[in-house]
Amino acid sequence: MKSRIASRLAGLERSATVALLDQVHALRAQGVKVLDLNGGEPDFATADHIAAEATEALREGFTHYTPSRGLLALREAISEKLAKDNGLDADPATDIVVTPSAKHALFISLMAILDPGDELIVPTPSWVSYGSMARLTGARSVAAELSADDGFRITRELLESRVSKRSKAVLINTPNNPTGRVLTREEARDVAEFAVAHDLFIVADEIYEQIRYDNAEHLSLAAFPGCAERTLTVNGFSKGYAMTGWRLGYVAGPTDVVGQVLKVQEHTVGCAGSFVQRGGLAALTGSQDVVRDMLDAYTARRELIVAGLNSLPGVGCSSPQGAFYAFADIRGTGLGSSEEFAAWALRDAGVALTPGSAFGPGGEGHVRLSFATSRTTAEEAVDRLSSALLEQRDREKRHLA
Ligand code: PMP
Ligand code: GLU
Repeated sequence: MKSRIASRLAGLERSATVALLDQVHALRAQGVKVLDLNGGEPDFATADHIAAEATEALREGFTHYTPSRGLLALREAISEKLAKDNGLDADPATDIVVTPSAKHALFISLMAILDPGDELIVPTPSWVSYGSMARLTGARSVAAELSADDGFRITRELLESRVSKRSKAVLINTPNNPTGRVLTREEARDVAEFAVAHDLFIVADEIYEQIRYDNAEHLSLAAFPGCAERTLTVNGFSKGYAMTGWRLGYVAGPTDVVGQVLKVQEHTVGCAGSFVQRGGLAALTGSQDVVRDMLDAYTARRELIVAGLNSLPGVGCSSPQGAFYAFADIRGTGLGSSEEFAAWALRDAGVALTPGSAFGPGGEGHVRLSFATSRTTAEEAVDRLSSALLEQRDREKRHLA
């Protein structure tokens, strides 16, 4: 009998982060109290002026298809933002596609540049979906494993060691999920020169751009010499503006490639939601105080969670420079692999967190805790983990005695 399922799905896993999110929903529906530090989404409601603009659009009957590239006014606002914040020159008429989510922007970008058999170089640990997206295009991802002991620093040597005749692109995510690293100027220069030397595309996932601490500088790879014509810059509204449920993102890049990305958009979703785009326009053109206020809250939570994690026996955690994840080293806890640790945390402490192994090579030995959650949830999670770890140690001592 013919296989019922396409071979491109063979061995493809569900998204670990999304599956865990579903598990938390299911446990809560059963009445189990779970503290969710897995989910990578802001706990804040979208700002009133953004919601009001989308509501007004609905009221006006602004409920039809938009141009497939997105509303011109929104593309103009994105173009201005890219010029002002990122030093990029993107023509709103030809170089930008507004997408339903950054996830979709990434997927259609990879569809447009990767052929079956091509290789996408991805420094890991990395967000869970890059490898799977590459695989769905028929290409494969090649992990460039970064070392925790070296602070997950990207080096030219490491990238060079992953190149082959089939290399087509390198994917860079800064600020990074899950490590919290923000690319330094030296690393960015290395990536740019590497891509130019091997004639590779760069896919730059900058979704956490607005969430940076200690004045860490955000660098867009497309702004480096020789990179504008080879870089697809992906960004969105989910994280900085707390708009995860809206599903709104965009990709900007060279005219010829963006024209091909557009075809994939037109044959899959057509365009992003009309009233959703009106909300996105309000987000970009309205007051940015909402972004700053959320950043202040994340900054305070970061201190709290990093200090809390470092106080746990056997746990070490450095301060992330960007995004809202603490990537804690749990090798000293004696609780086994990151998956075993995550299962233990859920069972014994009622805390949902993400095992580092989900983020590919280099992620093992770590777990990711999102602090895009309330201060009290973060505090209680650390307390519960602390009590559960002490109980575990007591049990082990009694067992040995
Ligand atoms: N890139 C990274 C690194 C992410 O963590 C996320 C969050 N899911 C996305 C892209 C996609 O964001 P969204 O689809 O919500 O715009
Ligand atoms: N980006 C978030 C995370 O990493 C949301 C879930 C997802 O889309 O992967 O947890």
